[in-house]
Amino acid sequence: MKSNTIKSINPFNGELIKTYELFTDKTVENTVNKAHETQQDWKLLDIEDRTELLAELSDTLLKNKQIYAELMTNEMGKPISQSIAEIEKCMFLCDFYETNSEELLSDEIIDTEAEESFISYDPLGVILGVMPWNYPFWQVMRFAVPTLMAGNTVLLKHAANVSGCALILQKLFEDAGFPKGCFQTLLVNHNQIESIIADSRIKAVSLTGSEKAGRKIAEIAGRNLKKCVLELGGNNACIVLNDADLDKHLDTIVNARMQNTGQSCIAAKRFIVEAGIYDVFLEKFQKKVSSLKHGEPLNSKTQITVLARPDLADDLQKQINDSIEKGAKVIIGNIKKDAYFAPTIVTNVTPGMPVFDEETFGPVAAIIKAKDVDDAYELAANSKLGLGTMIFSKNTNDAIDRISSIEDGAFFVNELVKSDPRLPFGGTKNSGYGRELSREGILEFTNKKTVYVS
Ligand code: NAP
Repeated sequence: MKSNTIKSINPFNGELIKTYELFTDKTVENTVNKAHETQQDWKLLDIEDRTELLAELSDTLLKNKQIYAELMTNEMGKPISQSIAEIEKCMFLCDFYETNSEELLSDEIIDTEAEESFISYDPLGVILGVMPWNYPFWQVMRFAVPTLMAGNTVLLKHAANVSGCALILQKLFEDAGFPKGCFQTLLVNHNQIESIIADSRIKAVSLTGSEKAGRKIAEIAGRNLKKCVLELGGNNACIVLNDADLDKHLDTIVNARMQNTGQSCIAAKRFIVEAGIYDVFLEKFQKKVSSLKHGEPLNSKTQITVLARPDLADDLQKQINDSIEKGAKVIIGNIKKDAYFAPTIVTNVTPGMPVFDEETFGPVAAIIKAKDVDDAYELAANSKLGLGTMIFSKNTNDAIDRISSIEDGAFFVNELVKSDPRLPFGGTKNSGYGRELSREGILEFTNKKTVYVS
């Protein structure tokens, strides 16, 4: 029998936080209709009136920072200091689009023989966001804020394990003064999503999630001729060359894998280390990883906690054990208890092993030895995913010369791959298509209308 409820369970102690009723078809219909009707007025507002609300949104985030952070931590286990940092990053996003939306959306004049010719960036209508649990606020905000500023309204289908965050996000927008109907949460299951995307009032969909979900959402969107943006999984390489300054960058390199207890799409997952620095790197990396502070998610000193669900720990262990069968060696970790998975370092990793070929969504570092710089780049590019690559080396000129040898959506030199409201974010290959953030993100859900006045 199909359940019409979803449960929010604290992954640290297994306690039930709350049970939520799924929306009925009638509630879904009312919500979609409200989004559609609200958009008719919202799109007519002056851009200054829309951006003004972002100052309130930022203030509301600040005022409720602790409440939102604790909710995230309780629902998906993120260390509280990282939940607080996530809310602060959302405030930075609001500030960026408050300052820049007007300019980013202004008509773009193009010289032709016409009296006047330009591109007008018109909103599309109601946009559905299907979002993951790993950054419960950030993922939603980075989709919703630019999409709203462009004159669209937004519906959110959040991951089932963070329904409390999903509902409080709607309240956040309403408390900040956005008209009711601009941002609404739908508590729905996968089957209901299909008919929502098919609804003629929904103009496009943005999914952040796994490759599997991406294929499904893109298939439904395609069948209905709707635009979609897909932000999917990653298997980022972190190249460490012989001349890398480990004293300077080791913390960043460890953080690149271990932040959010390893549950980040853009985390460094494959460490491709040049032979000459391999032993030193492994020793320092292991020491640093072993020193991370494990503990209760609500303790402000905690750096590593549980994963968001016990099944995620099961998946990780299977990927590691299957890799061991193919010759990989565990240096530390591979210990699992309920939703906890110990930070793990796996060496002797080669292509063909799950920890090389697949995304590992937890604190697992796969270490691969590269013969030389060319070999390191070839190994990095050997992935069906393409979110980003990072490289640590003093020779930044050589790194810049090799940018086009990596097909990913991002290339970071002496820094971890990260998202930033000022820069476009997105992937290539099976990591999806479309871009969020910056100018690219705010224009994704617009009709780039050609205007020609003779
Ligand atoms: P997920 O299982 O794919 O879920 C993501 C969202 O899609 C959830 O709201 C989920 O709903 C929904 N969904 C899944 N299958 C669906 C279907 N068949 N029909 C309709 N909706 C469906 O991913 P996750 O476990 O939440 O997140 C982890 C994945 O997201 C990783 O692969 C990670 O790399 C990726 N990610 C990518 C980015 C990026 O920017 N590229 C950022 C963050 C995360 P339910 O919860 O109800 O299943």
